[in-house]
Amino acid sequence: MAYLERYCGDNWQETIGIIVVNTGNNEKRAICGICAAGCWIIVTYDNDGKIQSVRADETSSLGAICKVGENSRDIVYSKDRLLYPMKRKGPKGTYEFERITWDEAYETIVKKLHQIKQESGPEATAIYTGSGSFEAAFCDLYQPEGVAVSSAASVLFPFGSPNTLGVGALCYVSFAMIAPHVTMGGMFINMFSDIENAKLIVIWGKNPAAHCPPHDFYRIEDAHRRGAQIVVIDPRKTVMAKYSNAEWVPIRPGTDGALALGLCNVIIEEELYDEEFVQRWTVGFDDFNRYVQHFRPEVVEGITGVPAETVRSLARRIATTSGVAPVMYSGLEYSDGAVQAIRATMILWALAGQLDVPGGFCFSMSQNKFPINREGLIPNPNTRKAAGYNNFPIYTKYRGEFHANILPEAVLKKKPYPIRLLISLGASIITSWPQSDIWRKTLEALDFFVCIDRQLTADAAYADIVLPATTYYEIQSYMVYGSIFKIREKVIEPIGEARSDFFILSELARLLGYGHLYPQTEEEILSRVLKGSGFTPDDVRTAGGTVQIPTVMMQYKKWEKGLLRADGQYGFETPSGKLEIASSILEEHGYDSLPIYTEPGESPLSQPRLAKQFPLVFNSGGPFKC
Ligand code: SF4
Repeated sequence: MAYLERYCGDNWQETIGIIVVNTGNNEKRAICGICAAGCWIIVTYDNDGKIQSVRADETSSLGAICKVGENSRDIVYSKDRLLYPMKRKGPKGTYEFERITWDEAYETIVKKLHQIKQESGPEATAIYTGSGSFEAAFCDLYQPEGVAVSSAASVLFPFGSPNTLGVGALCYVSFAMIAPHVTMGGMFINMFSDIENAKLIVIWGKNPAAHCPPHDFYRIEDAHRRGAQIVVIDPRKTVMAKYSNAEWVPIRPGTDGALALGLCNVIIEEELYDEEFVQRWTVGFDDFNRYVQHFRPEVVEGITGVPAETVRSLARRIATTSGVAPVMYSGLEYSDGAVQAIRATMILWALAGQLDVPGGFCFSMSQNKFPINREGLIPNPNTRKAAGYNNFPIYTKYRGEFHANILPEAVLKKKPYPIRLLISLGASIITSWPQSDIWRKTLEALDFFVCIDRQLTADAAYADIVLPATTYYEIQSYMVYGSIFKIREKVIEPIGEARSDFFILSELARLLGYGHLYPQTEEEILSRVLKGSGFTPDDVRTAGGTVQIPTVMMQYKKWEKGLLRADGQYGFETPSGKLEIASSILEEHGYDSLPIYTEPGESPLSQPRLAKQFPLVFNSGGPFKC
C-alpha cells in the first residue's frame, strides 16, 4: 500500500488517494540510500540478495529518481568501497594504509584526542561534516542546540571543543538562513516557491535539470506544459533556457545583485511596487529607494551585460504577472557579497507583491510540518571561543559553529589558536573549497586527521585513520516530507565492516564518557525523534511505515494574520516586526544594512590588468551532476 500524494514545494499539502501496488518477492519499496533527498524507490534484488536495480516508485510523486540513484548498485558495491578501518603506513599525501580493527581505530583516536586536549586545550580539536552528513537523523540529533538547521556535529562539544564546521558555509547558510532571516525573519526550510500556481517562473542561477533530486525540474516541466512562462537568468544556456518560449537572460557571473537592484529601480520608478505593503510592513525603503537610483537599467547593462530594455521588460513582467515563482540556490551564493545579492532578490519579490501569494515565493504553514523532538541537543560550550568567531560573527550566531574558511589559518598559522586534530565526516574538503592547494597543505599540517567516508577521497590521502561508513541503504532511520514521517528501512546489511556515520560518532561519544547524550541504537533514534509527536515507532510500523499529521489549508500574506511570529502578533519575525529592507541584524554586526552590490573581487571590471592577462572568466558550481 502506498500513499499517492501531490507534492507542493516543500510541503505535502494533501493526500489525494491511496492505491495498492504489489511488488514481486524480489522487490522492496524503500527510500533511495544514496543521498539525503530521500526519493521513494523500488529496489529489485538479485538471487544473492544484493541490490540488482533501483527504479522510481511510480505510485508516489516523490518517486522520481536521478541518474545517481539509478546507478545505486554501482555505488554500493563499488570496488572502491571502504570495507574496514585503516591506519596510515606510508607518508602523508599517499594512499598507503593498512587494515586495523575498529577497536584499534577507536583506541588511537581517543588517545590522540586526550593528548591534544592536554597539550593545547580542547579547542585544538575539531570536526568537519560534508554532505555525507545530511542524513535526517544525523542532522536532527547532532546539530548544535539552538540552531534552526545544521548538519554540523556536536560530538566534540561535551569534550570541550567549540569547533564544529562544515560545508554549509559554502552556500546553504547564506541563501537559506542568513539572507532570508535578516530580511524576513524566516528561513528557507519554512518557505517554498509555488511553482504549481505560478504564471511566470524565474530560474535564477540554478539548473534544476542537473540537481539532485530533480523534483523542481519535474515541477517546472509540468508548469511549462500548462502554459507558465520561463525566464532563465544564468551565464550558461541551460536545459530550461532551451524550452519553447523560454527566455534566456545571460548575465556576467557574480553580478546578479546589480541586476536585482536594477529590477527594483524600474519597479520603483514606474510605480509598479506594492505601496501599501511598503508603507505598512517594511523598514528602510526610503534609503533603499535612494540607493537604487544608481542602478538605472543603462548602468545595470554596463555591469551585468543584460540589455537595459531586458531589465525594464523583465521588471514589468515580475511586477504585473499574477504569480511569479523564483527558483534559486547554488548560484548567487558563490560570489562576493552573496548575502546582499540574495537579499536584493528577496526584496524585489516583496516589492513586486509576489511574496506569500498564490504562485509566488511563499511561507509554509508551520502546522503542516511533522514535529521532530529537539530535546537533548547539545549546545556549543562557547561559540565566542570558536575559531573565526570574530571574522564571521553572524555565521556563528546562526549556526553555532565556525566558518570553515578559517581552518587553514588556524592550522597553518595557529590563528587565533592552533587546531591540531580534525575529524572529517562525509566530506571532500580539498575538492569542495576553492584553492585546493591551501587545503592540501592544511590537511598535511594537522597532527592527526581522521576521515570517515564510503570511499577514499582526495582528503583521505592525508588521513592518519580512515573509517568505513555505510550508505543509507545499509541503515534504519527516517525521513520527513512536510507533514509526513516515514521510516527508512534497511535495504541491505552493511558492506564489509562499514558502520553508520551516526553510530561511528555515538560510539566515539561513549568512549569519551558521554555516550548517554546520543542514541546508541536505531530504535533509540526513532523513539527520540518521535517523542511528543503523538506516534511511537510501533505506531508508524503498524501504519505501514508512514504516518502523517493533520494539515491545515494554506493561508497567504501571513504577516497580516499573525502567522509568522512566535508571539502571534502581526508582522514578520524580525527585530522591527517588519520586512527589513535595511537589516538591523546586519547593521548591529557592522555590515551594510542595505542590500548593496559588490563587484566580484577578481573580474574584468575590478581587475582590468589581470583581465588582460587572463581574459577568460572561469565559473564553477553545480554541486551535483546527475
Ligand atoms: S536525488 Fe537521486 S541519489 Fe538522491 S535520493 Fe533521489 S534518486 Fe537517490
